[in-house]
Amino acid sequence: MLTIKDLRAGIEGKEILKGINLQINPGEVHAIMGPNGSGKSTLASVLAGKEDYEVTGGSVEFMGKNLLELSPEERAGEGLFLSFQYPIEIPGLSTTNFMKTAVNEIRKYRGQEELDAVSFLKMMKEKMALVEIDQAMLSRSLNEGFSGGEKKRNEIFQMAMLEPKLAILDETDSGLDIDAIRIVANGVNKLRNSENAVLCVTHYQRLLNYIVPDYVHVLYNGRIVKSGTKELALELEEKGYDFIKTMAV
Ligand code: ADP
Ligand code: MG
Ligand code: MG
Repeated sequence: MLTIKDLRAGIEGKEILKGINLQINPGEVHAIMGPNGSGKSTLASVLAGKEDYEVTGGSVEFMGKNLLELSPEERAGEGLFLSFQYPIEIPGLSTTNFMKTAVNEIRKYRGQEELDAVSFLKMMKEKMALVEIDQAMLSRSLNEGFSGGEKKRNEIFQMAMLEPKLAILDETDSGLDIDAIRIVANGVNKLRNSENAVLCVTHYQRLLNYIVPDYVHVLYNGRIVKSGTKELALELEEKGYDFIKTMAV
């Protein structure tokens, strides 16, 4: 599904990713962990196609296509979802209307017909039940005045609606209280199946008690310095990141 080879990227002339190799197959959940500043969010942003970042080497293949040549919209059309893609507050635009546009844009990209109002509402209801979100939240302006937990719920709802092949979740260190962890984890666990995959970027081992990854990779100083199974996350929790730092020099 996703093959990253020797990916190098940076910002404003500074190299941040220094040769990333990673392969993700359908049905797998991968976690990327690592200390602050190691390049986790940069990796997620490069995969999302954020324009501030410059790719200086390597390749990324997604669903048989050269991901790096696709616009962010085309990436979404191919089935890539990013949790931080729509964090903006949009006064006057309800989550419902926003989702209608997003779902139909993806359908259009895939050559499918626009969903009519009835089918769209039916889909909304199914997905709302799945991720336990209530109607009142969906009629409020997108992200405006949402609490941390509500933003997380909304993100997971977006993911449920867009039915991505690969979801990249960048769980930044701030605001991930236990409620938010549960919301994200329950959503991901309900949505995972043998045909999709998840790349969960996190600073915290704790999240991985709830989303059990098949593989764990430790990113340090722009490189994956260690890969393993979920036991690696436990080892990290026990020994701390200093253990990785001494290994990586
Ligand atoms: P992580 O998500 O692992 O904490 P980041 O990808 O956010 O790490 O950052 C990796 C490195 O890139 C850090 O040294 C950070 O200071 C630098 N960096 C990130 N974004 C920018 C930016 N917009 N401008 C300059 N440096 C940046
Ligand atoms: Mg950080
Ligand atoms: Mg980060």
